Amino acid sequence: MGLVCLYGILYAQSARIPSLPSDGPDAQRVRELVDAGALPRLTLQQVEEAEADARDREVLDLTLYGKVGVEDLSEEQAEQMLEAARRQLDRRAGKLRRTKELAAEGVIPRTAVGPVLEEYNRGLKTLDLAESRANLFRELVAMVHAEQAAEAAVESPLNDAARIAERYDGAGRFNSADLKAIVLAFEKRFAQPLPISANGSTALHRSLGFDHRGRVDVALHPDQEEGRWLRETLESLKIPYFAFRQPVPGKATGAHIHIGPPSLRLRNAD
Ligand SMILES: [Zn+2]
Repeated sequence: MGLVCLYGILYAQSARIPSLPSDGPDAQRVRELVDAGALPRLTLQQVEEAEADARDREVLDLTLYGKVGVEDLSEEQAEQMLEAARRQLDRRAGKLRRTKELAAEGVIPRTAVGPVLEEYNRGLKTLDLAESRANLFRELVAMVHAEQAAEAAVESPLNDAARIAERYDGAGRFNSADLKAIVLAFEKRFAQPLPISANGSTALHRSLGFDHRGRVDVALHPDQEEGRWLRETLESLKIPYFAFRQPVPGKATGAHIHIGPPSLRLRNAD
């Protein structure tokens, strides 16, 4: 899978424990020694935790710190990312609790708690990062769902979704030169980059059955200042767009502006 190649900078900084193979010879050897009574059970638990850590880090390296864009995650990967970060934090919480107990009993020096606490705090930050990435992913999923709902509304005009999508057909054309011009104009006007959430086809669109090639999604609410500016600019250039508003009040709104003709549905099922 080449997971190791996807090591991110953030992770590289926090990686101190050498990773063990998932069920490598080390663990097997330790198990044999424990079974033979030559090593205490605690050692086996430590080795198993190190293995579980290595597996979860592999998942996080790919899904959280890797080069995979959030729009190219699958729903399964986003879930795995969260679970790995939660398990990692649980293990560190357990280790912190045990270390504190041992320090309180005077078995180990109190100074031993500091590094374990730091490790736990890093785990908290990792979970925080994973949660915000998962929220961003959910927002992207909601955007694609909004496009699906709008397509369904075309087929049954009584559908509520008709009200959430506003369609402008313009001259029906949109190309990369248009996009470049819009990006530059937006930066000039707002001194920040255009918040593109999907440029062309993404794994997410494909997994939900959409051919999004040649289309661009911008994570702006159509009624916020930047969104209004974008719609006016597109209309002045006769570039087609769809404006999606919030279908249901909630966290993931799916509100965005889709530039280009409507997405096509992928015909051949996977
Ligand atoms: Zn779109």
